[in-house]
Amino acid sequence: MQRTLPTCVAAVLVLAACQRQQPAPPAAPAASATTAAATPVTFHDAIDAGDFVEHVKTLSSDAFEGRGPGTPGEEKSVQYIKSQFARIGLKPGNNGDWFQTVPMVETTADPGTTLQLTVDGKPRTLKMGDDMVVGTTNGKPEVTIKDSPLVFVGYGVDAPEQHWNDYAGLDVKGKTVVMLVNDPGFHANDPSLFEGKRMTYYGRWTYKFEEAARQGAAAALIIHDTPGASYGWEVVKNSWSGAQYALPASSDPNPRLPAEGWITGEQATSLFADSGLDLDALRAAANKRGFKPVPLKATLSLDLKNTIVEKQSRNVIGRLDGSTHPDEAMVYMAHWDHLGKHPDEPGDNIYNGAVDNATGVAGILEIAEAFAHQQPPPQRSLVFVAVTLEESGLLGSQYYVAHPVVPLDKTVGVINLDALGVAGKTHDLTVVGMGSSQLEDLLKGIADKQGLSLHAESRPEAGSYFRSDHFNFAKAGVPAMDIGSGNDLVQGGTTAGEAAANDYNEHRYHKPGDQYDAATWKVDGVVDLLNAAYGVGKIVTSDSQWPQWYPGSPFKAARELMMSPKIAPAKAPAPATP
Ligand SMILES: [Zn+2]
Repeated sequence: MQRTLPTCVAAVLVLAACQRQQPAPPAAPAASATTAAATPVTFHDAIDAGDFVEHVKTLSSDAFEGRGPGTPGEEKSVQYIKSQFARIGLKPGNNGDWFQTVPMVETTADPGTTLQLTVDGKPRTLKMGDDMVVGTTNGKPEVTIKDSPLVFVGYGVDAPEQHWNDYAGLDVKGKTVVMLVNDPGFHANDPSLFEGKRMTYYGRWTYKFEEAARQGAAAALIIHDTPGASYGWEVVKNSWSGAQYALPASSDPNPRLPAEGWITGEQATSLFADSGLDLDALRAAANKRGFKPVPLKATLSLDLKNTIVEKQSRNVIGRLDGSTHPDEAMVYMAHWDHLGKHPDEPGDNIYNGAVDNATGVAGILEIAEAFAHQQPPPQRSLVFVAVTLEESGLLGSQYYVAHPVVPLDKTVGVINLDALGVAGKTHDLTVVGMGSSQLEDLLKGIADKQGLSLHAESRPEAGSYFRSDHFNFAKAGVPAMDIGSGNDLVQGGTTAGEAAANDYNEHRYHKPGDQYDAATWKVDGVVDLLNAAYGVGKIVTSDSQWPQWYPGSPFKAARELMMSPKIAPAKAPAPATP
C-alpha cells in the first residue's frame, strides 16, 4: 500500500529516508521447520553488547539469505527469533502461538493502462508512467470507472484539530478527487499553518488516499510537485511500476479506494487550464483556511486490469505477563524482514540487512532479556513483536494493529527500533517525529541521567515518523515512539556522525553491503539506546500511568475515543430523514 518512499526510517545516525528498492517478492512460507543452528553462546541477563552482536551476526549471516519474506530466509529468521524468545523465558504471544500469519496481496497493474479523460467535451488520454500512475489496493483483477466527475479538493485534508476541512460541504460519492501533495503549512511556508515546513500526517500521500476512501470517492489523484513530495516524478513512476503490496482488504478495517494514483504537475496544469481553471491560483487558494472544493469541467474513465497473487508471511510475538495488570501491555517492535537474495545480480547478491534491521530485532531481544530478569518483575505485560513485510509497506505492523494480541485500548505505548547506528557512543539520541507524546517525557528523564540529549531527526520535512512500523499504531491512536541513534559521536562529534551516516546511506543502505563488520562496528552507543528504550518501558510497566499524545497531535482524538467509549460522541452521523 505504501508505494513511494515507504519503509524504515533510517534512524541510522539520522539522515536519509528509507526508500524501498528492489522489494523482496514474498511467497507462502516453506512448510519445513528449519531450526536455526544452536549458538554456542551464553547470553547475559542484562542488555549486553556481546549478546546484541551475536544476534545481529546470526540474523544477518549469509545463511539467512537477506531475510526475504516467503523465502527459506523467512523460515530461519522466524525460527531464530522464536527460539530466542523461548530461551529468554517469554511465552507465545498470539493466543498460544509464536506466530501471527500476515496475508498479503501482490497486485501488478497492466503497464499499458491509460486514464481516459473528457475535458470540456474533448477526449484526452493520460499514459501510465509518463503522465500518471494508477493502481488499486482492493485486490480486484479489474477495476472499471466510467465518467467520474473530477473535483479539486485542495490538499484533501480533514483535520479537526487544525480546524481545516477541504471536504466541507462536498459529497464525493462517485467522483474523482484531485489534490495537492504535502500540507498547507509546507507550501504556504507559514509556520502558523499546520507545522510549517515540518510535514504533518496530513501531508503524507498515504493519508490523502485514506481520507478520500473514508469520504467515499471513486478515485483519487495527487498532483505531483517535487518540493512538496520531496522527490521527483521518476521516483513516483518507479515506485508505482511492477508489483505492489497490500494487506487483503478483508484483513484491514479501513475503507479502500477503487483506484488511486498520481498525475504529473505538467498534465495537471494543462488539464486545469482546459477546464477554465488556473492551477497556480487554486494552489494559493488551497493554502487558506476556508478553501472550497472546485469542480473541473472534466470526467475520468478507467479500465484497470491487474494480476493478483495472494501470499503470506509471519510476525513473531513473545509475551511476558505482568504481575498485577497482565491485561495491560507495553509493546516493543522491530521488523525482521529485509530485501532477500537477488540471484540475477552478479557478485554478492545477498541483502543481509545487518543494520536494517537485524539491529532492531537484536535490540528487542536484549530488551526482552532485561525485562525477563527484572526484579521486581513488571506489573504490566510486555509484548515483543518482530514484524514482517515492513520493506513491502509496513504490512506486518498494519496487520498486527488490526489484529492485536492485547487490545489497543489496553496497549499503553509502543517503542519501535529500526536500523540502529553502529558508529560508536554518542552524546545524543534521535526521537523521530519528536514532539508527539509523553513517552518522550519518560525518555528524556532517562536520557538526562545517562547524559544524553534528545533531538528530532535531521529532515523533519521528509515525514520520517510516518515511514516505519510504529506509525500504524499511531494512526490507530496508540502512543508510539521511534528511537534512533544520535549523530553527535563522542569520538569526532557531529562531523564524524554525519560522515558515518552519509557513508552508510551511500554504500550500504538497502545494498548487499549492509553486513556485520567486526572491524568497524562499535555498538556501545546502541547499548545506551537500548538501556534508554528499556527504561521507558520499565517505568510504564511498573506504574499505572497512561502516556498521552501531546495536545494538537492528529492521533490524540483516536486515543481519546478508544479510551472512553462510553462518553465519546457517536462516530456515525445521524441517519438522514427520508
Ligand atoms: Zn528498516
